[in-house]
Amino acid sequence: MHPAHHKSQTEDLEIQRVPFGKDYVMPLGQHIGVPSKPAVVAGEAVRRGQLIAEPGGFVSTALHSPVTGTVREIGDLRGVDGRFAPAIAIEADAFATQRVEPDPAMDWQSLSLEEFIDAVQMAGIVGMGGAAFPSHVKLSVPDGTRIRHLLINGAECEPYLTNDHRLMLERPAALLEGAEIVRRKLGAEETIIGVESNKPDAIEILCDHISPGQPVRVVPLKVKYPQGAEKMMIKSVFGKEVPAGQLPRDVGVNVNNVGTIVAIADYFLRGMPLIERIVTVAGPGVTYPANLIVPLGTPVRDVVRFCGGLKGGTREIIMGGPMMGRPIASLDVPVLKGCSGVLVFTEEQTSRRKEYPCIRCGRCLEACPYFLNPSRFARLARARMFDEMKAHHVFDCVECGCCTFACPSDIPIVQLIRTAKDDLTHRKESHG
Ligand code: SF4
Ligand code: SF4
Repeated sequence: MHPAHHKSQTEDLEIQRVPFGKDYVMPLGQHIGVPSKPAVVAGEAVRRGQLIAEPGGFVSTALHSPVTGTVREIGDLRGVDGRFAPAIAIEADAFATQRVEPDPAMDWQSLSLEEFIDAVQMAGIVGMGGAAFPSHVKLSVPDGTRIRHLLINGAECEPYLTNDHRLMLERPAALLEGAEIVRRKLGAEETIIGVESNKPDAIEILCDHISPGQPVRVVPLKVKYPQGAEKMMIKSVFGKEVPAGQLPRDVGVNVNNVGTIVAIADYFLRGMPLIERIVTVAGPGVTYPANLIVPLGTPVRDVVRFCGGLKGGTREIIMGGPMMGRPIASLDVPVLKGCSGVLVFTEEQTSRRKEYPCIRCGRCLEACPYFLNPSRFARLARARMFDEMKAHHVFDCVECGCCTFACPSDIPIVQLIRTAKDDLTHRKESHG
């Protein structure tokens, strides 16, 4: 797919920090997997960067306080999708400096792979490209599997988003430091940083920072969507397919987003757990678009206010990119670890076009990068035949939205797929 880029609003804007506010909410389930377990109680004073929740299992991560303040409440609070879910609410101390006192840098070279993986989990690091999958799980390689290549995803193929682009421009040394830590720990032969060729300045600056003899290559990639999807990227860089049901590691590749690699460098070299992230605030409905460092848990309302507020006619705010992101239920929802963007759209971009019946043109099948049958999913979802969708591998769908983009009948295929996946996931959670 070749959706319009819409990146000119923010691609030249340097990253800046939002000022600290008053209220912060850290959902315990802001990553894929088991929710974290609170390690603090209501009324307790916390420091910025202090552990506030421990991993709830292996596929889970720690959480750290984004501010110095007091735990106001631990309980069910409204999440991004409007549902109530367990979270820790913290009130920032208006008189605190909010300076982090990071732990000392770690001697990462002396850590075993297991110790390294435990440390990544306790640092709360997840996939920063939007997936929020715990990074330590991705870095855990089963015995007998050999990782030959560390592939770093700097494609940023979603329209509007420029936070990865700015990170590569402004912190190339940190990216290369993190890459070297992960490559050495995985025992990979080389690091490849894949960057879409519409970011020539990022490609140039990264190449300039590579030391002679460092096993790192920067590979310019074609500009297309979803170039940043792991399996797509592996095909573009290595020309090999990852078979359905298998993972990148099965073809000897480990893929991580640029933000994740910088977060790893910040933890091992500077002692900073994951307490903030870069967010692109853009879209036709925002007054002053920006790339911002935002403490996790900050209400979207504070972020938007810092950007001059909403223009008249705002209809929808998306967390993430326009293709894979999701609309938020209220301006009070917090910025999460996986929040790469806050995009504000007006009526012009969001008015639903009239939907027509499926004409069986097959364009959605051609568009699906995972060779699924989106039109069948749409039919089954409408009939609420979710179990049949599972049997047809609906969980292989990465919700890239290509099918919806390609459909001449304007059928909201990806939205129907999400409804089905949400239903299946919640049923599984409520039945254990
Ligand atoms: S949203 Fe899912 S079904 Fe549709 S094209 Fe993407 S992967 Fe395929
Ligand atoms: S692209 Fe739309 S109209 Fe064509 S087969 Fe798929 S769902 Fe039907």
